[in-house]
Amino acid sequence: MRLLQKHLCMIAMSAALISSAHASPLVEPTLHIKPAASGAGRVALTLDACGGKTDTRILLALVENRIPATIFVTGIWLKRNAAAVAIMQAHPDLFELENHGGRHVPAVDTPQKIYGISSAGSPEAVLAEVESGAAALARTGEPAPKWFRGATAEYSPSAIAMIRKLGFKIAGFSINGDGGSLLGAKETARRIAAAKDGDVIISHINQPTHAAGEGVVQGLLALKDKGITFVRLDDAEGTGNHGTTD
Ligand SMILES: [Zn+2]
Repeated sequence: MRLLQKHLCMIAMSAALISSAHASPLVEPTLHIKPAASGAGRVALTLDACGGKTDTRILLALVENRIPATIFVTGIWLKRNAAAVAIMQAHPDLFELENHGGRHVPAVDTPQKIYGISSAGSPEAVLAEVESGAAALARTGEPAPKWFRGATAEYSPSAIAMIRKLGFKIAGFSINGDGGSLLGAKETARRIAAAKDGDVIISHINQPTHAAGEGVVQGLLALKDKGITFVRLDDAEGTGNHGTTD
């Protein structure tokens, strides 16, 4: 199970969308924040903690450089990473924790494979994934999450409608920073450093052995040097497509 979770994280968003001919077409929503009125611009950094461990290169760089981030955590990751959670909770001005599901199962309500991984497969299973993720956050003493991002960041339109009804906004992105944490450091740094006013970056904070994590830090420092302001999703006006925020 642990291997499966790791595999799922690694391949998430690293390949083209695969869905069988008869399954409902999936969507990968985008998200932008309202651009800054003046200055160098602002960007939202979102980091997924799917399962596995914590990339302390990223976590410590965020703390040292005072870079705020929205962290999407699963119930699985929360259980295994108490020390990292404590660091995040010690800096409530920097870290906003949001819902990445209980078990890191794609929020798709029909049975199909996404990147070779089985979807939740039914409305009930999507509901369980979303609600168990929120419950895991509540157990850590976190405020109730307002944002949800499903495993693989792909959804069936009917699952989106259901998750919205539960009261969550769905967090897409506009820049895929680390390609599911599979990219090299240089390419990851290049993608992140290219973020513009209003962009929402997605990367991973749960793969400490991958080169991509080093690139995440480099890219963020380059943005900081340019005078970019980092904001969390709760502090920004986010607009997504496919009915994910409106
Ligand atoms: Zn994930």
